[in-house]
This record gives sequence, structure tokens and C-alpha cells, in this order.
Amino acid sequence: MFNINLANKVALVTGSSRGIGRMCALYLAEAGCNVVVNYANDRAAGERTVAEIEAFGVKAHLVQCDVSDSKAVEAMVAEGIAVFGKVDILVNNAGVGVGKGAEETTDEILDRVFGVNVRAYAAACRAVLPSMKTLGWGRIVCISSVVGRSGKAFIGTSPAYAGAKGAVLSYSRAMAREFGGTGITVNCVCPGWIDYPGKNRVVTPELRASAIAQMPVGRVGDDRDVAGAVLYLSSPLADYVTGVSLDVNGGLYMA
Ligand code: NAP
Repeated sequence: MFNINLANKVALVTGSSRGIGRMCALYLAEAGCNVVVNYANDRAAGERTVAEIEAFGVKAHLVQCDVSDSKAVEAMVAEGIAVFGKVDILVNNAGVGVGKGAEETTDEILDRVFGVNVRAYAAACRAVLPSMKTLGWGRIVCISSVVGRSGKAFIGTSPAYAGAKGAVLSYSRAMAREFGGTGITVNCVCPGWIDYPGKNRVVTPELRASAIAQMPVGRVGDDRDVAGAVLYLSSPLADYVTGVSLDVNGGLYMA
């Protein structure tokens, strides 16, 4: 019987007050991790996630931080290390999209989308690496998107988002090479259409149905689908896995 036991590990999950990040934090907590929970705006949601984590008998520490501010990211990691002593697992999850075509994609949009989805991921990696190198073990999991592989969005087009999520994939692969042999692995997860209770997605039933028709498994995904993949990549079961992107999109990547 296999059992993922991450007792005494410390995980930091960006954007974990709700959505995919919240479920990743809960899965890691259930496996035994103490967790640094991060939010940007909604403190009450962050506090709810903390309470859910503590129900597993582990500890959680809540940090407000807009991850597009690299100095704030450094301070968040330093705070997590001050509280828990280390960071073993980083899940770069906080992300932001924008539904604008190439002709409407301004520098401001690019700065915002690449700031949250790429620069923030790089800053968090930079900040946790000294702790992981000291430990001789580390897991970095970056949430990209099927859009970063295919360029295809269901709702409008979004070259800025697709470009940023594509950059996450190649940045992670380069890091996986750089840190091969150190005990630190770097991997990505590419979700497809993921819903969760409370996800505010305004789409017509027709658009939803036509999207599902393109998904070989015949349904949209949920936050648990992604959290399971993140837990696997964070665990010793994935010791020999680095530089991969795991498609959690119901086969959409083939469409
Ligand atoms: P979401 O519903 O928008 O939730 C975002 C979470 O990130 C919230 O906890 C939010 O906190 C936090 N956040 C947003 N901007 C932040 C910032 N600048 N700094 C720190 N925290 C920030 O997102 P989701 O749907 O769960 O998606 C999570 C990740 O999966 C993203 O990287 C997204 O691109 C990727 N993804 C999602 C889907 C999907 O269909 N849902 C598909 C492919 C990839 P506050 O509420 O406090 O702002």
C-alpha cells in the first residue's frame, strides 16, 4: 500500500486562499505538510483556508502578498522560513489572465500578465532555492496551462496569457536542468478548463457544451484533479521526475 507522507515538510502555495491553490494547499496539508498560505486581496478567504488546513492537525501561516512585487515575494518566503524554519515545497500557482487579442495587448497588459505569471514564479524560485539547497531536497511545481502549450483559449484569444504560460514551461525546464543532481526537482502542471465551487466564470451553456465536446474525457476538470497532480509531483513518488509538464486537462492537449 503506497502512502504519501510529507510529515515535517513545509509547503508554500501562492494564491492559495481559493481555487486550485487552495485545494493544492489542502492536499499537501492532508499529506502532513505545514503550509504557508498566500492571498493578494481576500484575507477572509485566506483565513478560511488556514482553518481547513489546521483541521488536518498541521500548521498554517497566512501571508498577504501581491506576487507581482518581487520584494514582497522575498519577504513572504523569509516570513515562511522564520515561522517554519524552511521551505521544502513551492507551488507557484497564483495567476492572472486577460481576454485580449494581440492588437489590444498593451505593454501594461503584458507587464501585468507576465508579472504575475512569470516574474513572480521566478522570484519565488529565487527566494526558496537557498533553503532547498541547504536541505538537499526540494520540490518546485509551477502551474502553467494547456493554453501555454496550444495557444488555444476557449473564451476569446489571449496571446499574453498563452505567452506567459508558455514561458513558465520553458523557464521550469531550464531550472530543472540547472538543479539536476541537487535533489531539487522542477515540474509543471498544465490544467485545462478547471472549475471549483465559487469560480466566477461567465460563459454561455453553448460555449461550455462546445468546449466539453473537445475534451476526450467529456467533462471539465475540478480543483481536485489539479491538486492530485501537484501532490504527486511534490512527493517522493516523483523523485525521478523533473522538467516535465503534466497535462491535467482531460486530453485537451491532443485537441
Ligand atoms: P483564481 O480562481 O483566479 O484564484 C486565484 C488565487 O490566486 C486566489 O487565491 C487569489 O487571491 C490569488 N491571486 C491572484 N492574483 C494574485 C497576486 N497577484 N498575488 C498573490 N495572489 C494572487 O485562479 P484558479 O482558477 O484557481 O487558477 C490557479 C492557477 O491555475 C493560475 O495560475 C491559472 O492561470 C491556472 N489555470 C487555471 C485554469 C482554470 O480553468 N481555472 C486553467 C489553466 C490554468 P485573492 O483572491 O486574494 O486575490
